[in-house]
Amino acid sequence: MLKIDNLHVKLEEEDKQILKGLSLEVPAGQVHAIMGPNGSGKSTLSYVLSGRDGYEVTEGAASLDGQDLLEMEPEERASAGLFLAFQYPVEIPGVGNMTFLRTAMNAQRKARGEEELSSGEFLKLVRAKAAELHISPDMLKRPVNVGFSGGEKKRNEILQMAMLAPRMCIMDETDSGLDVDAMRLVADGVNALRAPDRSFLVITHYQRLLNHIQPDVVHIMAEGRIVKTGGPELALQVEKEGYGDLLAEAG
Ligand code: ADP
Ligand code: MG
Ligand code: MG
Repeated sequence: MLKIDNLHVKLEEEDKQILKGLSLEVPAGQVHAIMGPNGSGKSTLSYVLSGRDGYEVTEGAASLDGQDLLEMEPEERASAGLFLAFQYPVEIPGVGNMTFLRTAMNAQRKARGEEELSSGEFLKLVRAKAAELHISPDMLKRPVNVGFSGGEKKRNEILQMAMLAPRMCIMDETDSGLDVDAMRLVADGVNALRAPDRSFLVITHYQRLLNHIQPDVVHIMAEGRIVKTGGPELALQVEKEGYGDLLAEAG
């Protein structure tokens, strides 16, 4: 599914290397977590995978289901099944939540050569998914994320994920700044969307989210590379001992 091989990335503006030979494979149906100290390049990895400007890949490869992600435009990556949930979801004044969802879904269907959803089909689907996630009809009509509480933004992001049904979901510190209830909600959303043909890459600075989302594999990232890979016990070790020993041991 997601395969990253020896990825090297620098900033376009400065001569600063941020990712320094990162390799990672997330097979179908699995949830992988990436943990690591601040500044290790976790967000940069998610930006580069989504196709954000400002980064230059100097070496290495990244593919989704065998398709070269780095050659694609951001919209093409989304159509190929990549979904990114960010730490700070954007507000889009003037665009209703439902309009946004329908436009995004139909753009993807079009790119895949599928028929657009009729408004009836779309309404049925969005109402069903919103009800599952305890999202009120009122929240569906409001402009995207405008005036939403932290918890509502997270729920809305899970709704986007549920509607777009991506193959690969990358979540960059979606848990930061959330209270326990909102974090629980994100975790429940992810758990409900787990499926044999869908994978997750959950990036988090803290272990607490992983109490609710049981990852299959945990990677520790430092200075632009994965320095250690293990099971859920690795996250518990980080919580108990911090990164110090792990990083020293990894060299
Ligand atoms: P993390 O998400 O693990 O905290 P980041 O990917 O945000 O790490 O950052 C990795 C490193 O790259 C940090 O040292 C950060 O300061 C630097 N960096 C990232 N983006 C930029 C940028 N646009 N300009 C300058 N430095 C940046
Ligand atoms: Mg950071
Ligand atoms: Mg970050």
